[in-house]
Amino acid sequence: MPAAVPLGLTLALALAAPPPTAVPDLTTTAERTGFARTGRADEAERLCLAFERAFPGRARCLAFGVTPEGRTLRALVASADGVLDPAAARARRRPVVAFQGGIHAGEIDGKDAGFMALRELLAAGRGGALSKVTALFVPILNLDGHERFGPNQRPNQRGPEETGWRTTAQNLNLNRDYGKADAPEMRALLALLGAWDPILYADLHVTDGAQFEHDVALMVAPTLIPAPWPGSTLAADGRALRDALLARLEREGHLPLPFYPSFVKDGDPASGFDMGVAPPRFSGEYWAARDRLGLLVETHSWRPYGHRVEVTRAVLRALLDEAAARGAGWLERAAEADRAGARLAGQAVALAWEADGPARTIPFRGYAYTREPSPVSGQPVVRYDETRPEVWMVPLREAVRPSITATLPRGGWIVPAPQAPLLAERLAAHGIAFTRLARAPGRREVEAFRATAIAFEARSFEGRQGLKVQGAWAREAHQVLAGSLFVPVAQPRARLAAFLLEAASPDAFLAWGLFNAAFERKEYLEDYVTEPFARDLLARDPAVRADFERRLREDPAFAADAAARLEYFARRHPSWDASYGLYPVLRTDEVLR
Ligand SMILES: [Zn+2]
Repeated sequence: MPAAVPLGLTLALALAAPPPTAVPDLTTTAERTGFARTGRADEAERLCLAFERAFPGRARCLAFGVTPEGRTLRALVASADGVLDPAAARARRRPVVAFQGGIHAGEIDGKDAGFMALRELLAAGRGGALSKVTALFVPILNLDGHERFGPNQRPNQRGPEETGWRTTAQNLNLNRDYGKADAPEMRALLALLGAWDPILYADLHVTDGAQFEHDVALMVAPTLIPAPWPGSTLAADGRALRDALLARLEREGHLPLPFYPSFVKDGDPASGFDMGVAPPRFSGEYWAARDRLGLLVETHSWRPYGHRVEVTRAVLRALLDEAAARGAGWLERAAEADRAGARLAGQAVALAWEADGPARTIPFRGYAYTREPSPVSGQPVVRYDETRPEVWMVPLREAVRPSITATLPRGGWIVPAPQAPLLAERLAAHGIAFTRLARAPGRREVEAFRATAIAFEARSFEGRQGLKVQGAWAREAHQVLAGSLFVPVAQPRARLAAFLLEAASPDAFLAWGLFNAAFERKEYLEDYVTEPFARDLLARDPAVRADFERRLREDPAFAADAAARLEYFARRHPSWDASYGLYPVLRTDEVLR
């Protein structure tokens, strides 16, 4: 206080300040405005810290990272009996349930619902779910996006009046970033999840799309795959959790769905729905790939904000109760799966799945609708009548089958020294164990993947140019340098390592374009070298001549493609670059140290 301030004003300010024992206000802007509005980031931070003051020894507000715009990422930890740090949770074999709002900051239901649910549970004192479970709540993951605040950021949903924006200040969609881990927010989240190792991790969203009566969709992972990989039994727990959540929400008057409600054919309700197994760029399957339970919650965008917050709060209360009742068993199965992960050497694991089998017909609580040609788009457009609820009988396909499978190496993967800086931090962020080889293993027989077809995606996605390759692993001798990384298969995160390192995996670093340079040609033959070389080769090598003439006859695209014809000979020239199209991650049968 400056000395010039009159004494009377000083006294007035002192009297206006709350006495130190006052209970902080833990209500949200959403509640105070009848769910017309939601608070800003400063409110979430204030609430997080206020919970710590209001519930000493039972709530703790953590800072776990800094966003690109310099904001502090916060998480609120809550436990009725003071288990408020990862070491204490581990020592007590305590289930930790994490839930996170605002990964898409416009879909902010989870932030308000999380504060409300934890306030109620903590205010109830001892007993209740929080005496058996520790909650780890991230109110807003995409904090910079949340503060890109305005009335038009989520045009497809009913309230609140203003919200944040989908992507980060770097224009990255965090909900595609679990595997590649490009964003600082994602690295911070992975460190938080790694430290706490929650047995269940829920990601709180709002859907878009068609109008219907169902108010929430709950996608638990794993559920669809009976045994996602040898030794894992968590899918049975996933199905039991899903069924318990659905039953409880129905009892509470909600209309939950166990699948993502987007039609098989966009804009055609009669096409029904497919269940699916998402790739691990998304939270639920990412967490399942770490042998824990994942849950994607999608409230329905056509419901008003207050209803959506209420159903999210109901989901969180149900989750914590389920974890309190069944968490000890989940922890046992997760530990078994971790041990089984360490035995995956040489085993086949699925890396992607597709819908399979016949559909069954299900009743779906929709509305009467018309489908008419649109003068705007020139295509059929669906218009729903919310005053006329209607039960649709639509197909649902619930089975999946593996579409991509890989047999894992017997020893592990080698990330050669030149690529080590690119991957070391990412692997560490995922809790994947690896060794940095201090001594050069030297020339070794390893497996190398050489691309026989290379296709770069035409469009940039999440700031990266995707790459699809075809090819196969084959035995070759390679020089392995000191400073290379050895990633053993024998570790609990073996399956996650396979998702990120196997060449065929749709969410591998390779597919995300981290290794594109290895698939670009860098040295060329001029025509004045190729032409005489090719003519000479055709003259002296009848086998090449026969093969080339057959290609010209049988492959018109090749015959018409001058560059392809020249490359045919360049590949046979002694100057051909043998490392072109070589995936710069190797596999080995050995365990390197
Ligand atoms: Zn979303």
